[in-house]
Amino acid sequence: MIVIIKPHATPEQLEHVLDRIRQLGLQPMVSTGSERTVVGVLGDERLLAEGALESLPAVEQVMPILKPYKLVSREFKATDTVVQVRGIPFGGRQIQVIAGPCSVETPEQMRAAAAAVKEAGCRLMRGGAFKPRTSPYTFQGVGDEGLDYFRDAADAYDLPIVTELMDVRKIDLFLEKGVDIIQIGTRNMQNFDLLKEVGRLDVPVILKRGLSATVKEWLMAAEYIAAHGNHRIIFAERGIRTFETAYRNVLDVTAIPVMKRETHLPIIVDPSHAGGKAWLVPHLARAAIAAGADGLLVETHPCPEEAWCDADQALSPAQLGTLMGDLRKVAEAIGREI
Ligand code: PEP
Ligand code: MN
Repeated sequence: MIVIIKPHATPEQLEHVLDRIRQLGLQPMVSTGSERTVVGVLGDERLLAEGALESLPAVEQVMPILKPYKLVSREFKATDTVVQVRGIPFGGRQIQVIAGPCSVETPEQMRAAAAAVKEAGCRLMRGGAFKPRTSPYTFQGVGDEGLDYFRDAADAYDLPIVTELMDVRKIDLFLEKGVDIIQIGTRNMQNFDLLKEVGRLDVPVILKRGLSATVKEWLMAAEYIAAHGNHRIIFAERGIRTFETAYRNVLDVTAIPVMKRETHLPIIVDPSHAGGKAWLVPHLARAAIAAGADGLLVETHPCPEEAWCDADQALSPAQLGTLMGDLRKVAEAIGREI
């Protein structure tokens, strides 16, 4: 249920509404827009007797929410949310390209990668210290010290870092190292305990779409994070599993405008895990920006053929530079900038 507050309601009147909601054992979530304040009501709405709020002076309208997701829905907030990451906006006019290797390998590799990411004009860097691998016998990531290699390399170029969290026991380490965006990977999209824990943090989250997750399941996963207090969520479409085997996954371009319609939160696209081949990445990246994505997550490696993980899909520094130039033209054509 959402409660629309009258435009000229006083702060005391608003507080009265929130108190009433709390008294009923429900949790109010306030969203203050430039023109309107709305309050989302979380919990069992049957506790809210018919008319319990309508009579309050601050209340303009009480609306049942038709979607199962509330806080992340456009019904709750009509205007686009811009998620700020150290002053870098996601979801506004500017498009963000996050680039970096699939996995953190060595301090030297991370330094070379950071230099290439900066040189190409990207504002943030990616890299996994903990890797979710299909086989338990393949490289699992360098682990804790990888965050130090990453932090040192990225700090030298003033690049905020994006890295995947798989285990709640690593949250303190992530906070200690000041990870700028926590990535929840495809395989953990419905790890609800992990979602609840990152929901309690004050760190932006990239929520990747599950391998076979519907748009609704993806939105509900984000709702878990938002319902626990963290509203700084960025969705990432990274290709879904279909009957097609000619490429790694199918980039669901349709999901971009659909998500834009369903949620006020930003959406970025990972063309690397979608295509699985470096030559495909520029095609998918251009399509994603043209379709309205707010950013990209692109794998790049100083020497792709030597990458310890996902070597086939990593762009070389030169390819990343060329891609950025091409994307600039696409962005301009649709009234955005990179
Ligand atoms: C990654 O970005 O490193 C990754 C493992 O991606 P995904 O969760 O989309 O497979
Ligand atoms: Mn990868």
